[in-house]
Amino acid sequence: MSTSIRSSRWYRSEYAANLGALSVRQQARLRASRVALAGSGGVGSLTASALAMVGVRRFVLIDPQCLEIDNLNRSCAGVDYVGVSKALACRSVMQQRFPEAEIAAFVSPVETVNPEVFNDCDVIISAPNAIKARRAAARIALRKRIPIISAGLADCRKSWSGAVTVWHPGYGKKAACPACFLNGVRTVPRGESLLTTVVLLIASLTAQIAVQILTGARAQALRSHNFFRIDAGNYVLEKFAVRRLKDCEVCGVRN
Ligand SMILES: [Zn+2]
Repeated sequence: MSTSIRSSRWYRSEYAANLGALSVRQQARLRASRVALAGSGGVGSLTASALAMVGVRRFVLIDPQCLEIDNLNRSCAGVDYVGVSKALACRSVMQQRFPEAEIAAFVSPVETVNPEVFNDCDVIISAPNAIKARRAAARIALRKRIPIISAGLADCRKSWSGAVTVWHPGYGKKAACPACFLNGVRTVPRGESLLTTVVLLIASLTAQIAVQILTGARAQALRSHNFFRIDAGNYVLEKFAVRRLKDCEVCGVRN
């Protein structure tokens, strides 16, 4: 028996419980999909892990930073990886559990990585720390017409909440792009509080939206809404339809 047939049989058994929620074809789509993660820190690494667990097997991880000890409350990697690049640490941890996965890692800011690494990607998950990197990821997604899911967290000292925005080339020309939400924002305050359980909720929502985009399963709400907010302190999930800004630096009429 060839390795590929053996691994295909193994894959079908591993994901048997997904079937029913997903068709065989939709599960196969997940397996063939390639997901780029701009940012492999808390939300990024946990979203990548969740997507690997649901059956995605091809990833591109991009992050210029190294893992620090106070990142460990929200990382898929543990104490052995402190001081290691976040992208390489995430790849190493995922590869241990999913040795057959194809995972490329780039220790680089999104804005300087070769845009060709996104060519074969089906969706971009945007969760970097820097606003510059978020704008760069949005620019790449719009230019290459790749759906992008952008995840962010509030400072948990103020609110146990976070939001996920979606831009999809097939879901309406007037919808906001991820950069529309960053209008006037230049920096992210450092030293914020990020509660593990809130980070996990936002990563799960991000992965859930990615599954719907990649498979097309139950994706109707994504056609009419592009902003999803979780207020974990009050057990509220809200969805909104946000229109694009005319003067957005990325999708605005002058750009
Ligand atoms: Zn925009």
